[in-house]
Amino acid sequence: MADRHVAHLLIGGGLASANCARWLRESGAEGEILLVGRELDPPYNRPPLSKGYLAGRESREDALFRPDPWWEEQRIELRTRTSVMKLDAARREATLSTREVVSFDTALLATGANVRRLNVEGADLDGIHYLRALRNADAIRADAGVPGRRVVLVGGSYIGCEVAATLTALGAQCTILMQEEVTLSRGFGTAAGRFFQDGLEARGVRVVGGDALARFEGDDGRVTTVVTERGERLAADAVVIGAGVTPDVTLARAAGLALDPDLGGVRVDARLATSAPGIWAAGDIAAYDSVVHGRRLRVEHWDVAFSMGRTAALNMLGRDVAHDVVPYFFSDLGDWASLEYVGPAARWDREVVRGAFDDGAFSVWYLDGGRVAGALSVGRGEDLVAARALLEAGARGRVLDDGEIAALGDVDSPLPAA
Ligand code: NAP
Repeated sequence: MADRHVAHLLIGGGLASANCARWLRESGAEGEILLVGRELDPPYNRPPLSKGYLAGRESREDALFRPDPWWEEQRIELRTRTSVMKLDAARREATLSTREVVSFDTALLATGANVRRLNVEGADLDGIHYLRALRNADAIRADAGVPGRRVVLVGGSYIGCEVAATLTALGAQCTILMQEEVTLSRGFGTAAGRFFQDGLEARGVRVVGGDALARFEGDDGRVTTVVTERGERLAADAVVIGAGVTPDVTLARAAGLALDPDLGGVRVDARLATSAPGIWAAGDIAAYDSVVHGRRLRVEHWDVAFSMGRTAALNMLGRDVAHDVVPYFFSDLGDWASLEYVGPAARWDREVVRGAFDDGAFSVWYLDGGRVAGALSVGRGEDLVAARALLEAGARGRVLDDGEIAALGDVDSPLPAA
């Protein structure tokens, strides 16, 4: 027997749940909304954690999804520091860490992702950080955002590059240790990745590519050295690891929801409905049938979580809408490069550059068999409007001909119409 009943139970304290709560109310939901999250803070935006918040330019209040009084004003009950321990999908009941049993009409599962921990020798030394939560950023700023501090970033993707850029601007001496040969190349290819790496190096970041973490060494319980597999010894007063994340499907698995073995998340349809009636999933865990891409997709980016929160809310109210938003990401490297991207391209066989890397204003178009699969912009954000339309057209079978591909690469030619 449940202790209480709510109309909508939102599981997870991130942006997917927060935006779902907002859209439930904005779309006329009258019943009780309970949002349960295990983090200490109310929902907040993660992008500033490696950028303005880490730099000390933005406050905790700036990063919050909404100011504290908003939740009460909207009659959304927010339970931080609380986990859902068990989900009974058939009975539509959840057991909280407070032992309360809550029954619901609809639920959103948005448990997000956990950082991938690298359990090498020395991994438990002090001074080794991961970045996921607001308080991790506080710890990194205090420990590594100090002039002259020698900081090693493990991982050459978003966290590694953004944190290196931010800490360098604070005066730290940063070294990126990564498996890739070129920073950010996994998502954006070697040419654009080289542009970002050149910018980092020009500002004093040392980049050690094509190598991997072997172990940490320390003194008196604190890290002093990062040893690479090739045998390099990198002096380290502090370390920040950005080695990716894994979707947290523990609750979903235990509840018997269908998972996606290939994409490693909770399997949902185009409307974000899970295999259990009345339960939706959104954010990092949601492997969804994308009507935009014509394939199943799982994306670990805040913007996708955010937009999925809205789609889930509408469907929880019976609107029957497909999630049809083209995923968009952005990244800032210090104050010298802002990139924006639409995609994501699962694969591509050709890159076409519009503009010039040297001018710092370009877009890169990722083509798969002549179809636009993704596009990156630095200083040419207007190109992404056409990129979105061409990406959707590409998924429907629109193949660019040679003349159109040439036009993509010529700033004086208009972009092809979708
Ligand atoms: P990520 O973008 O998923 O990249 C993972 C990085 O970890 C890659 O460089 C990868 O190298 C490396 N890696 C994987 N396994 C490793 C291992 N065993 N040892 C060393 N390196 C390893 O992850 P992230 O940069 O850590 O970011 C975490 C999450 O936050 C992601 O979901 C990301 O999208 C998100 N985030 C987004 C933004 C943004 O949108 N601007 C900013 C910050 C964070 P290989 O490629 O060689 O495997």
